[in-house]
Amino acid sequence: MQQHDTQELRQQDSRHHLHPFTDTKELGDNSRIITRAEGIYIYDSEGNRILDAMAGLWCVNLGYGRQELVDAAQQQMQELPYYNNFFKTAHPPAIKLAKKLTELAPEHINHVFFTGSGSESNDTVVRMVRRYWQLKGQPEKTVIIGRRNGYHGSTVAGASLGGMAPMHEQGGPMLPDIEHIAQPYWFGEGREMDPQEFGLLAARSLEQKIKTLGVERVAAFIAEPVQGAGGVIIPPESYWPEIQRICDHYGILLIADEVICGFGRVGQWFGSQHFNIKPDLMPIAKGLSSGYLPIGGVLVGDRVADLLIEQGGEFYHGFTYSGHPACAAVALRNLELLEQEGVIDRVRDVTGPYFARQWATLASHPLVGEARSLGLLGALELVADKGTMARFAPGIGSQCRDNCFQSGIVMRSVGETMVVSPPLVITEAEIDQLVTLARRSLDLTARQLGIMD
Ligand code: PMP
Repeated sequence: MQQHDTQELRQQDSRHHLHPFTDTKELGDNSRIITRAEGIYIYDSEGNRILDAMAGLWCVNLGYGRQELVDAAQQQMQELPYYNNFFKTAHPPAIKLAKKLTELAPEHINHVFFTGSGSESNDTVVRMVRRYWQLKGQPEKTVIIGRRNGYHGSTVAGASLGGMAPMHEQGGPMLPDIEHIAQPYWFGEGREMDPQEFGLLAARSLEQKIKTLGVERVAAFIAEPVQGAGGVIIPPESYWPEIQRICDHYGILLIADEVICGFGRVGQWFGSQHFNIKPDLMPIAKGLSSGYLPIGGVLVGDRVADLLIEQGGEFYHGFTYSGHPACAAVALRNLELLEQEGVIDRVRDVTGPYFARQWATLASHPLVGEARSLGLLGALELVADKGTMARFAPGIGSQCRDNCFQSGIVMRSVGETMVVSPPLVITEAEIDQLVTLARRSLDLTARQLGIMD
């Protein structure tokens, strides 16, 4: 693309386009225009090749440029580009995808409700959970407990379930009957304790919350197996078993938001399998279609589905694009390819462990207080002082993120945490390259701060 096209596009972008999660004033006409992509690389309008260590927004699990997914979309668009699943109708792609998903899901999950995104999946969760307890004859059980710094989307229900304070402040009153407890963020909030003890303490804040509210009011607990947007927060091993024990003991529903962790990100089909938990509901999206077309859903465990089905009555909920045929066809092909190519086993056995070793080498960098990873999720904690782990003033993360772009890699900053989530098809040689580029971006940042020559 020619230079003047880029300028023109940037101006038009600035004039007419309000970007998601963006300070439009600060952005001005400086957008980076991404024009094509292949494998794990994206290309901008000025011809720069950039290693996409975020897989878009944690979603391009199979990598870019997969002709099989293009063909699946094209075929389905020709045959039946749209029909819905309302009013006693269905179509083959939605049916086949539902069957496939429930085969891949843990044994106690045999149904799926389709949506168009992760946020819609979490809206569905709120409505389904409340409907469940109504049907059980306990309509006063309406409270859903989430976590501070959790992320469940940016619709009103998603933002309410999430624990992102800035989103709550901008959104006016959030949904009623949503409560939040502590997050299992050892580096940020528990470093003075043993990690396993800290994990138990964080989990037990759920029990405390249930006791404070009264169990007769509490419907469910929702959390991401590994918090993604909150900064790739990998809970200590003690955390999830204790959460499961508490949910079982009090009989409340457990919801694992698998929007990021699902479809291989941590080396299993679902993050909850890695942590050995048994969720009643699992919101999914992103990697379901490798991001090629928008589709999400809620995997519904037997405890909930059986009651909804046996008691009957219409569930007044659904979206025009619930189970959209082209999106479902692409998602089905994506799942087949992940399976046939052994992508997820490779993450578990080969690339995940290799990434863990290489990523850990960044811990010796002068700016890095901790380098952690699980599967193909990684985080670096930026610190001003490696002895005390004192933080820099705010802004260092976005400075480092801008330096990543300069160095030819996309990493995301969450406050002072740098995070990555590369396509699952990344090779060992490409992981080496990812780590080299990450180190280069850190070096550049350290030099700007006068910490390195
Ligand atoms: N849940 C989680 C865990 C997410 O990470 C996200 C998106 N980052 C969402 C829900 C919302 O998904 P969407 O942006 O597709 O609405």
